[in-house]
Amino acid sequence: MKFSKSFIPTTKQPPKDAVVNSHKYLVQGGFVSQTGSGIYNFLPMGKIVLDQISTIVKEELNKTGAQEVDLGMVTPASLWKESARYEKYGKELLRFKDRKSNDFVLGPTYEEAMVDLVRNRVTSYKNLPLNLYQVKTKFRDELRPRFGLLRGREFLMKDGYSFHSSEESLKEEFALMEQTYKNILDRLGLEYRVVEADSGSIGGNSSKEFMVLASNGEDDIVYCEACEYGANIEAAVSSVDNSTNSKIVVKKALYEDSSKIVVFFISQDDELQLTKATKAVDALELFDIDTPQDMTKQDFIDSSEYECIIDSSLENEFALSSYDVRAVQVGDTCKCCGNKLNITKGIEVGHIFELGDKYSSALNATFLDENGKSKNLIMGTYGLGISRLVAVMQEVLSDEKGCVWNNIIAPCQLDIIISDIKKPDQVKVATDIYNKCLEKGLSVILDDRKERFGFKIGDFELIGFPYAIIVGRNLSDGIIQLVDRKTLQKTDIQLDEIDEKLKELFWGS
Ligand code: ATP
Ligand code: MG
Repeated sequence: MKFSKSFIPTTKQPPKDAVVNSHKYLVQGGFVSQTGSGIYNFLPMGKIVLDQISTIVKEELNKTGAQEVDLGMVTPASLWKESARYEKYGKELLRFKDRKSNDFVLGPTYEEAMVDLVRNRVTSYKNLPLNLYQVKTKFRDELRPRFGLLRGREFLMKDGYSFHSSEESLKEEFALMEQTYKNILDRLGLEYRVVEADSGSIGGNSSKEFMVLASNGEDDIVYCEACEYGANIEAAVSSVDNSTNSKIVVKKALYEDSSKIVVFFISQDDELQLTKATKAVDALELFDIDTPQDMTKQDFIDSSEYECIIDSSLENEFALSSYDVRAVQVGDTCKCCGNKLNITKGIEVGHIFELGDKYSSALNATFLDENGKSKNLIMGTYGLGISRLVAVMQEVLSDEKGCVWNNIIAPCQLDIIISDIKKPDQVKVATDIYNKCLEKGLSVILDDRKERFGFKIGDFELIGFPYAIIVGRNLSDGIIQLVDRKTLQKTDIQLDEIDEKLKELFWGS
């Protein structure tokens, strides 16, 4: 690939609203561009990276026997009405009508459409288990799209759905998918934790999230310093002593077409965990409101105007049933082993669910078992954020100069920079090295632009190819330079040693 013929519009100017490195550098490096709130175009370099991640994901999934499909981008609303999610999913679901006034949704996830695909086609236990996946753009009208690709409204997700005749079979597939996701993240070279999660609007029994450790992460992950325990703060539990010191937190709970005031009773030193609290009252969302004045705790409990929710740590204090609504804190005791819990930041890249028959029963998707008895299909669902992973790589790898790609998913392994395009000897040597690399099948770019050297090296640092070779002034002494993007270290190489060096770095013995 020649830089002069490529579409890599780098820019010195970071996007105005960019607060995280991946957002800044992916735009500045010419990988993506924004067209609307939470909507991004992938330019050639970005598309290569995105495809390379997809390829790794597909390779690992195909090894397990999962099969790739591609469902319609637009889903008839009738399917979402069957599952009752049409009403429940809230404003993230983009709903629209066609010219005949039929209702549709732009798929934010595909449980309904996948169940519809297999119902009446998979009818016997003999055809089970089955795992189907797609790598497809999803649309969610997120309340606050932000951080570039990390939280878009349009984003690329791999979503998989498995169908089973028994819970045991589902559990086996769930474990296989967990292992597969680990293999994928290992291949990408990412550091992560698998944690217990809240199941959110997808629903089902148990679910696990794959959290890449990153200081900019939006999620708090609770983990044990001694054992394997790990959970999203939204689902984390710990052993806590019963408390006698309580405080109240008052919230307004919003429902589909109503609202009510809820008073949460928690221990003095605790914080309310919003996701747990929302779940405890089965609300869509909780809002802050001022605490009503002149009310004692007992007044709240006695009043029929308020719903009171007691945290489990106070269960001995009140004669009401209790819920776990407190946020686990650093230093809490691990329920599994009794050691101390800690909290770290992470970015969710994957989420897998044991769904059970939530969707198959709603959409009446059944099969005949060994005894000819009709049963609901048992399901698992498995999501992995491909475009989010592009950004996550840069949250983890980038430095103060720009992107840094590892050799696994770099858009090109090597950038050969002709320092001065007007010097025929530089052009000749650089082009020879370029051709040699092409012959060996290396992904390589030749920076043959009529630009100053400083500009070209600046682009190299911003785009983040793993290595650059600079063919410049020292060529008259038979020397070229190799730059390692990660360390920014420059090494002089004698021209007659270049073959050896390329071999060592890129194509082995
Ligand atoms: P989050 O908690 O971050 O909103 P989610 O729980 O809504 O994510 P899932 O429904 O589990 O997400 O979707 C599976 C995967 O899709 C997530 O693990 C994430 O990697 C990716 N994903 C979800 N929402 C977005 C988004 N708005 N932008 C980019 N990727 C996303
Ligand atoms: Mg999730």
